[in-house]
Amino acid sequence: MGNNIAALRKMETDALKGDGLIDFQEAKGLAKAAVTKQEKAVVSGMLANDNFRQPRKTAEKKELTKLLGGSLPRSSPLAGQEIPGVKGAVIQRVLGDTGGYGSKHHAIAAARAAGLDNAMVVKGKGDKWYAVESDVSATGAKGSAGNVKDVLHVGKLDRATFDSLKTKIDGKTGDARKEAWKEFAAYATGVPKNEIKVLFKGDAPENGKVNINLDPGFDPEGRVPGFDPSKPEYVELGPKAFDRPANAVATLAHEEVHAQHYRDTLELYGDYKKSKSHDTFRNWAAKNIKGSKDPGIANREVMKADIAAGFEDGAIAATELFAHVEAARVAFQSGDLTQARTDLSKVRSLNALPLNQTQSVAQEALRELRDSLPDGARDVFDDVVNDAKGGVLKGL
Ligand SMILES: [Zn+2]
Repeated sequence: MGNNIAALRKMETDALKGDGLIDFQEAKGLAKAAVTKQEKAVVSGMLANDNFRQPRKTAEKKELTKLLGGSLPRSSPLAGQEIPGVKGAVIQRVLGDTGGYGSKHHAIAAARAAGLDNAMVVKGKGDKWYAVESDVSATGAKGSAGNVKDVLHVGKLDRATFDSLKTKIDGKTGDARKEAWKEFAAYATGVPKNEIKVLFKGDAPENGKVNINLDPGFDPEGRVPGFDPSKPEYVELGPKAFDRPANAVATLAHEEVHAQHYRDTLELYGDYKKSKSHDTFRNWAAKNIKGSKDPGIANREVMKADIAAGFEDGAIAATELFAHVEAARVAFQSGDLTQARTDLSKVRSLNALPLNQTQSVAQEALRELRDSLPDGARDVFDDVVNDAKGGVLKGL
């Protein structure tokens, strides 16, 4: 059965055009056009992430709430915020993870995948980074204003430029090769050039940079190092991740998930050391899980301990699962369905599985992803799921 999601997205874009916000009449139009439960959820998500002007009249609120099936979402505190450095520009939409990202580069990957001229990243409260869209072009954005502490215009990728920059690497050696790679990797990912470091064999990767590892012995698309409580994490990408634009951002997002888990593990490991416990870190973490009556919250608490313990003892199934889910999400966001199929298939083919609670958190995220997809993309999703013999995708 077909869905209406692509049409709803078009209505959303049209509503935002012009004044950069969604007013009551436009919200009502969207809510009325949403028929199924999934479509209503998609529209609720739009109103939560977009510059939606909450109706002041109680009757209007009630009407919208009813049309959306019971609840009217709050809009993101970032929506409608002024963009520093560009007069009159505001944030009209929050893209990607509305809860924000723990690193600038992760937010950049999500913003780049959106394929929008006005895609950007902003640093908000709590030093989190958000992928957003401005209402007018804001290429010169810089500085801070209000809730926006820092900003970078990301924009969209042009395939011909990607291909031409890639060709320019051919035949170059030494520093010229490094420079050509830097240019290309910056363009592919949207990460500023001065935040990219190109490594030859023997060069040390750097924390805070996207490291491009050109050592012929470096085989994976990307990696973060194994856990070492005395060292910070770093992210490396290999040339294999740059076969297509969507793979570059999906792989960056994948590694940024690991990097976040590394930082989370460092923090928890610090508490473990302070506790002077004689347990292993895994047992200590398991004993210190905060319980909750809400099964969703309880599962997420188990998941956090599962991820950290795995990082420390090398049973990495949990972090790997979430990194693959995130890569699939970014690939679907990019609209490159070949890449989306590849990344979702990696969730299907995971050999080692984490705890059941951890799996159910991932399944919840995957269901949400599926519900947000328009027809063609959803067919690809279902296709991959239908081939699952077991594991996380089975029974989605
Ligand atoms: Zn991984």
